[in-house]
Amino acid sequence: MELPFAESYKIKMVEAIRKSTREEREKWLKEAYYNLFNLRSEYVYIDLLTDSGTGAMSDKQWSAMMLGDESYAGASSYLIMKDTIKKLFGFNDFLPTHQGRAAENVLFSVLVKEGDIVPGNTHFDTTKGHIEFRKATAVDCTIEDSFHPTKYHPFKGNFDLEKLENVLKSNPIEKIPVIIVTITCNSSGGQPVSMQNLKDVYSLAQKYGTKVFFDSARFAENAYFIKMREDGYQNKTIKEIVKEMYQYADGMTMSSKKDAIVNMGGFIGFRDRKLYEEASVYNIMFEGFVTYGGMSGRDMNALSQGLMESTEFEYLDTRIRQIAYLGERLKKFGIPLLEPFGGHGIFIDAKRFLPNIPKEEFIAQTLAVEIYLESGVRAVEIGTLLADRDPVTRENRYPAMELVRLAIPRRVYTNSHMDYVAAAIENVFERRDKITKGLKILQEAPIMRHFTVELDRA
Ligand SMILES: *Cc1c(COP(=O)(O)O)cnc(C)c1O
Repeated sequence: MELPFAESYKIKMVEAIRKSTREEREKWLKEAYYNLFNLRSEYVYIDLLTDSGTGAMSDKQWSAMMLGDESYAGASSYLIMKDTIKKLFGFNDFLPTHQGRAAENVLFSVLVKEGDIVPGNTHFDTTKGHIEFRKATAVDCTIEDSFHPTKYHPFKGNFDLEKLENVLKSNPIEKIPVIIVTITCNSSGGQPVSMQNLKDVYSLAQKYGTKVFFDSARFAENAYFIKMREDGYQNKTIKEIVKEMYQYADGMTMSSKKDAIVNMGGFIGFRDRKLYEEASVYNIMFEGFVTYGGMSGRDMNALSQGLMESTEFEYLDTRIRQIAYLGERLKKFGIPLLEPFGGHGIFIDAKRFLPNIPKEEFIAQTLAVEIYLESGVRAVEIGTLLADRDPVTRENRYPAMELVRLAIPRRVYTNSHMDYVAAAIENVFERRDKITKGLKILQEAPIMRHFTVELDRA
């Protein structure tokens, strides 16, 4: 018999989680104003809100923490991180930051000015937030296929090169300080960008005279998909693929809470020394001195070790197969999903799941609320709440897709948990015809409203 697939790790420490009753969840939801970010984590049985900062560190990461050097300046932990970044990505200079959006804040303080244009492949919400906060415009250049939930494309995060070239051609180049390539593309479902596309975007940037930065939160998952799907990479290691990917970037911003498998941290990598020096001023103002930037020595150690582990094939294979396992289970029940499955979670197509809810009543959020009510599983809306209002007209922006994301934390849940999640969603699917009312907003913040919005049943 062929031996089945099994995880590439065993468990050394466990954390209890608690089930609840439907009556309890009903009450907690009301108290949370139907915003799942407002729930206490103890009210959640399986937490698929995010894969950000929720991973399980390895024994080697915990050991590395004990060796953290907490010196204010020039700590060995900083130098280990510098070496690791150089080895994996090829960048000589880096700045530590407390998380990914802090890296964006520091970098964009140097690069992005009022009236600028920043092309990208569906910018992540914090990235877009930092661009729009500076009164600049984020222009989406993702391929059209990316917006068709069931259309197969191996690299749905790819740039439409024609769209990108049009933006570069039709604007003064000094208004386009940087192109942001998000790998994998979070907002469009954890979809990868191919090596060829990375290469092509970089040559366009060079041709027109601008820079490319990779928004790198899930760079290792992107490399895994290149290995599995792109010709010529099957026999390369993940680390070799990562090294090649970053030849097509002038720098990177990193949320280490994803593919560095730590609970907090981030950094910016630079090819250009001068840009590093300019950014250092902001890092010192916003984050901390250049050799710690908002991180403790122990955290930098765990981060460096995490980067080495996330770029191992066995780790990635376990992770991405678990996501596909959940996806296949749901697909078998006929639940409408975004396909192919992404690298960090499964995305449910809420418009097809709940055809009776009008878009003004927040389709995806309604579904996320129903899933929680059914099971205590917490997912997250990637739809109209997240898309926010147009900064000029203040009208709701209705995105092409209304998605509910089941983000899978790294090395945290077993496939039995995945079975529970699948059954819960199937139960909601069976009673979908009875779900005819959505939600309405009571109160919202002027920017990134999804975190704090207060809702009620419509
Ligand atoms: C999470 C994330 C960020 C922001 O990082 P934080 O660590 O949450 O501040 C930026 N870009 C992408 C693609 C992300 O996934």
